[in-house]
Amino acid sequence: MPTGRGWKIGRILGIPIYLHSSWVFIFVLITFWLKESFAKLHSAWPLEQQWAVGVVASLLFFGSVLFHELSHSAVAKHYKIRVVSITLFLFGGLARIGREPYKASQEFNIAVAGPLASFFLCGFFFAIPQVFPGAEMVSTVSGALGWINLQLAVFNLVPGFPLDGGRMFRALIWHFTKDFSKATRIAGGSGKLVAYGLMLFGVTRAVRGDWTGGAWMLLIGWFLLDAARESVAQVDIQETLAGLRATDVMSHEVPVIPRDISLEEYGAEVLRTGRRCHIVITDDRLVGMMNVHTLNSVPREEWAHNSVQAAMIPREKILWATPDEPLLPLLQRLLAADINQMPVVSGSEENGAHIVGMVTRDSILRVMQTRSEIGTLSYGK
Ligand SMILES: [Zn+2]
Repeated sequence: MPTGRGWKIGRILGIPIYLHSSWVFIFVLITFWLKESFAKLHSAWPLEQQWAVGVVASLLFFGSVLFHELSHSAVAKHYKIRVVSITLFLFGGLARIGREPYKASQEFNIAVAGPLASFFLCGFFFAIPQVFPGAEMVSTVSGALGWINLQLAVFNLVPGFPLDGGRMFRALIWHFTKDFSKATRIAGGSGKLVAYGLMLFGVTRAVRGDWTGGAWMLLIGWFLLDAARESVAQVDIQETLAGLRATDVMSHEVPVIPRDISLEEYGAEVLRTGRRCHIVITDDRLVGMMNVHTLNSVPREEWAHNSVQAAMIPREKILWATPDEPLLPLLQRLLAADINQMPVVSGSEENGAHIVGMVTRDSILRVMQTRSEIGTLSYGK
């Protein structure tokens, strides 16, 4: 998966379109490859013409990938699923949607839209030479794009998750078993199989002398393997954390510090006790939260002259958890806010809210670890 968004190149159907930095590499590679194959077909073309036609065909190729992703997105939007972004990167395109579809039929339709769009483009490009017979450059470029789109459609239909075919496969199993996790596991398994097959094929090609083609397949296989693993890992987490709440894993110990001590003194307290997060109080009233991360955001030489009060996270900016908050969304909130711990608060503002514990990323990860070691015995759903 591309990390980081890359350059935003525009907005289509309200969806921001990004170019990932790895896209440049594949653009150059594909332009070069197209130029080479045009040179073989039309050796009479001057070099500039070969390159120019190569660049045009390459741009149309990426236009085709974008069209494919937009088709997924249009169907997702039809189901009121937000499309966060479309990113073009090394292995093609990726449409990020806001949530998983609620129904198997929706997932199937979102997935099938991509290959259908590519088949449509394939027919479109193959038809162009019929409309403009005799235009050599036009028929060369459209012929190449017809083939490319055909390959895109067929490759994406391979039933290994996370390819479109794998998503359709998952939707079918989901529909018949009514079990999303099981469906993801099976489709993820077939995704791994496809990935290993592709890598094996890549190695065979490389051994036979086609180094670039072989390496490329190896790389795509690697990417698919990673994505298949990740999707299975996600449902594992969902299952492991199912039924667990903040109160199950929180520590009841809530370290407290007064607000008027200096950061120097706070640092000493952290070093002495090894506790990384404290609630800041004054006259038994909660005023904020202090932790090592916040401490480190103040330059070391200023610790002596600043109080905890000046550096702490003020009360209104603290993110809270309630004791019965399910762990999965809680973990997602911790990760999204990039924080390590959250105070757990019971009661409401009016009838005396009080902190009953602290829940940390570590405590959630620990329970996941333990549960996966003990296995299915412990699934308290
Ligand atoms: Zn697709």
